[in-house]
Amino acid sequence: IGDALREAAAAGPDRRAVVEGAPGPGPLRTLTYGELLIRAEAVARALLTRFRPGEHVAVWSGNSLAWIELEYGAALAGLVLVTANPAYQASELAYVLRQSRTAGLFHVASYRGNPMADIVAEIRDDLPDLREVVDLAELDEFVATGDPDAELPSVRPDDRVQIQYTSGTTGFPKGVLLRHHAMLENARLTLQRMGVGPDDVCVWPMPLFHTAGCGMGVLGALTTGATIVYLTVFDPARQLELIEAERATISGGVPTMLIAILAHPDLATRDTSSLRCTFSGGSPVPQEVARAVEERLGGRMSIVFGTTETAPIVTATSPDDPEDVRTGTLGAPLPHTEVKIADPVDGEAVPVGTVGELCVRGYCVMEGYYARPEATAAVLDAAGWYHTGDLASMDAQGTLRVEGRIKDMIIRGGENVYPREIEELLQRHPGVAEVAVVGCPDPHWGETVAAFVRPAGDTAPTAEELHAWCRAHLAAFKTPASWHVVDVMPVTASGKIRKNVLRERLVTAGTDAGGA
Ligand code: ATP
Repeated sequence: IGDALREAAAAGPDRRAVVEGAPGPGPLRTLTYGELLIRAEAVARALLTRFRPGEHVAVWSGNSLAWIELEYGAALAGLVLVTANPAYQASELAYVLRQSRTAGLFHVASYRGNPMADIVAEIRDDLPDLREVVDLAELDEFVATGDPDAELPSVRPDDRVQIQYTSGTTGFPKGVLLRHHAMLENARLTLQRMGVGPDDVCVWPMPLFHTAGCGMGVLGALTTGATIVYLTVFDPARQLELIEAERATISGGVPTMLIAILAHPDLATRDTSSLRCTFSGGSPVPQEVARAVEERLGGRMSIVFGTTETAPIVTATSPDDPEDVRTGTLGAPLPHTEVKIADPVDGEAVPVGTVGELCVRGYCVMEGYYARPEATAAVLDAAGWYHTGDLASMDAQGTLRVEGRIKDMIIRGGENVYPREIEELLQRHPGVAEVAVVGCPDPHWGETVAAFVRPAGDTAPTAEELHAWCRAHLAAFKTPASWHVVDVMPVTASGKIRKNVLRERLVTAGTDAGGA
């Protein structure tokens, strides 16, 4: 990653590398590739006065220039960056720092009401490995302590560069070990699939602590020579404003973000005609939403499928694909990535068109979970396949479609029900803004199908209406047996619906309480 930054700085020192799209008027803070390299090397030299290459340092902050400077500084110093979610509460941060044996922590005083300085003060004494804590507001003072003549270590492509904790939709966070080569190549190949080059300006709402932010976004821009304009906090109005002001050619977000943009009144008045490609992924992208994005926001869709464990992107559609493919599938695997649709029981490849577990092999697959050999062995097999836990199918052209997650699959009276199919159908109902379908424990059927709906307008569609909508296209056993109207969906920091929370609500409330 350090070498890639050196190359970009040599090739175009005055080109804009990163632009901070903070809220409010006033000029945007910008670093050129030349400035970014100088700053990142200074950060690296200061880091090397306190830490040895290979040690772990954590960053705990919302999106900021300092975050990106640390990302590159740590990479140049051969350190491993632990990327902590700024929404963590004390116990979550303490778990991540302790489990990762982090030696240094860089944090901000607060972020969106989260009192981070207080939290750090509260947990610090319980973290024996943590030697150094730096407030990012004092990063300049920290950088000034570096030795300007110190040599930077040689860093190899297979060295570890980051530990990213999975967002926890499947339980306790696990630290995914990612290598320089994996993150860098993956970012390059993903943005190349979108057709990104040096003339592109990418407006990026993704959180930096996630691979879609610091990898696909920051390193994607680096490896294609593009400019990344990142939001410091997701806000649909701000994203639209930046697309217009920067004449952005690339933008996107997880489906929840794009749904918020489509519903925002500013969409009608902002000029977004510069967009060439709009990406989405991270959770199922309803085809209705993808089509509405192309029509109303602009840019042809590139749907990406990935997991933190695969650095992150595995498959993506290209803006050059036919409309049905680019809005309705996961596309084909990226170059140098092997995928297999496997029988979940014996791991053998299933025939074309059959649903099975999506497995991935190649340079992008994580080394493992940090200090969690059993958890690693549960997902990485001896032949090198990473088992994603996602259900997918592949057609004869090699295009993948997602069918849901293994653990989200509902088994009602022995029949397999894939929530994705029902969600896609309900998403097309004009009264539905967002929907999530989960299994509800049931003494007779084992599980029944429950739907959580966030209405598009002030009045929610009735259960009868939604039931009739489903029955027109679905077998009775797939049609939701209970309907639950919600004002907001519980989501993770990266915008995914937390189905485990919805399932818990059903269990605590009883099967019919809260039903429409
Ligand atoms: P955890 O691994 O703890 O459950 P998480 O699911 O948020 O947390 P990530 O690595 O951020 O972890 O997300 C990966 C998952 O996101 C994939 O396994 C898949 O279920 C889902 N996903 C990503 N992209 C898509 C997409 N385009 N369509 C459908 N699902 C997607």
